[in-house]
Amino acid sequence: MDQPHRAPSPAAVAPEHGIAIIGTGFSGLCMAWALRRAGREDFVLLERAHEVGGTWRDNHYPGAACDVPSHLYSLSFAPKSDWSRVYPAQPELLAYLREVADRFDLRRFIRFGHEVLGADYDEHAQLWRLTTAGGPMTARVLVAGNGPLAEPRAADLPGLARFAGAQFHSATWDHAVPLAGKRVAVIGTGASAVQFVPEIVDGVAQLDLYQRTPNWILPRPDRAYGTLAKWSLRHVPGLRTLYRAGIYWRNEGRVLGFVVHPALMRLPQRKCEKFLAAQVADPVLRDKLTPRYAVGCKRVLISNDWYAALQRPNLELVTTPIREVTRDAIVDADGRVRPTDVLIHATGFYATENPIAARIRGRGGVSLAQTWQDGEQAYLGTLVHGFPNLMLVIGPNTGLGHNSMVFMIETQVAYIARLLELMQRERASTLEVHEPVQRAFNEALQLKLSDSVWATGCKSWYQHRSGKITTLWPGFTFDFWRRTRAFDEGDYALQRLSARGG
Ligand code: NAP
Repeated sequence: MDQPHRAPSPAAVAPEHGIAIIGTGFSGLCMAWALRRAGREDFVLLERAHEVGGTWRDNHYPGAACDVPSHLYSLSFAPKSDWSRVYPAQPELLAYLREVADRFDLRRFIRFGHEVLGADYDEHAQLWRLTTAGGPMTARVLVAGNGPLAEPRAADLPGLARFAGAQFHSATWDHAVPLAGKRVAVIGTGASAVQFVPEIVDGVAQLDLYQRTPNWILPRPDRAYGTLAKWSLRHVPGLRTLYRAGIYWRNEGRVLGFVVHPALMRLPQRKCEKFLAAQVADPVLRDKLTPRYAVGCKRVLISNDWYAALQRPNLELVTTPIREVTRDAIVDADGRVRPTDVLIHATGFYATENPIAARIRGRGGVSLAQTWQDGEQAYLGTLVHGFPNLMLVIGPNTGLGHNSMVFMIETQVAYIARLLELMQRERASTLEVHEPVQRAFNEALQLKLSDSVWATGCKSWYQHRSGKITTLWPGFTFDFWRRTRAFDEGDYALQRLSARGG
């Protein structure tokens, strides 16, 4: 139940910052750009690291690249004509984000080394009290742009603590660990492993690849842009915009199979099956690599060299589950011991149950983690009842399996900018979504998701432990755009500053 209001002291209603933004990846930088465009400078970006870039700063494993084309996987207000290739590699994406921070003069708003360790909503003062690695601070509004794939999740294997060799997660790759001539174990065969295994396999003595579930793989239609293409994209009026739109609409069409009519996924399924058959002649290996779920249920991966890498003589695909890890080996459930020098966790992230959810405490000291015990949910992926003045970027159910997340980020940031504008216009000190509005939104969302390809029987990181799909947007991205623009002020509870004496 809501707490009764108490009159705040004048000092209590004046936060140090109008807005505190967590993170300086695509989300944080985009939010900062939008605030500057709106003429605001009363914000701060809190970054735990010492450089901008988010996931593209952290994931520097060999072969790290994006599987969405560069001309779409970039900010609409910061177009780049000279992307070197269709699928940008991590260094180029990181350089792009650094350039965005410089070009729009965003660095002066960033506090590096300021990991947010706690965020408590002060109902009396109507602001967020933040505990950061760089000291405490207060802000009226907290924008969480920390990213859903920012917290690596290592495999929790029996005996792991005994392991005396080197080990690291793909998202915290330790380039100081030599792999040449070593016996390397890779656990996991998801989007990250698919990229780095082909890069490292030839340099190691032995690579044991532990697969729990195979993935559907499609070829990666990558190529470098030539001088003429780059020149044309820069100088021919409208061409770059048209090209970007073409990629967007081609990707958008995939929703028909993912959500509208999953039977349509048979087409890409046949393409995947043909690709596997063409690449892997050995029927035993092919069988091990054939998923037993519909294409799209888990993220579809793209690679031209994965299957070839798996057939190298020094690579063994292990599909028997791991029983335990010893000082210098991995033992499988059949008792087979494989000596191991280096263990690489390619085991993904806390896409659900992100540890930061336990650190953000709203009204009554209740944390997001407590509120989301049965699965994450928000209104339009952005607002959570019980958490006034908290705005999430890539919050629950805004992820995509078919198109560019940068589109979703920009759409959500524009929505947040409108919410902030509303607060300013109304001289409001708090904004909170009404609970029935959030509930109705999520009921409809879950109903739609229950008919999607993601609910056809596989287990994936798209799902919360409860089985609920809490990460994906079940529809066209332009529908998300439309819904965030159709602004009904009645959906939100606002409290005016004047009413609180501030
Ligand atoms: P992921 O797709 O979640 O893959 C994790 C892998 O580890 C899966 O094969 C999983 O098996 C396995 N695994 C997890 N825990 C395990 C355990 N305890 N024992 C054995 N195996 C275990 O993680 P990711 O590859 O890091 O990618 C995560 C997401 O990041 C992607 O889906 C994508 O959205 C994004 N990403 C994008 C790109 C790109 O744009 N190219 C690249 C990398 C990552 P199960 O399948 O059985 O769970």
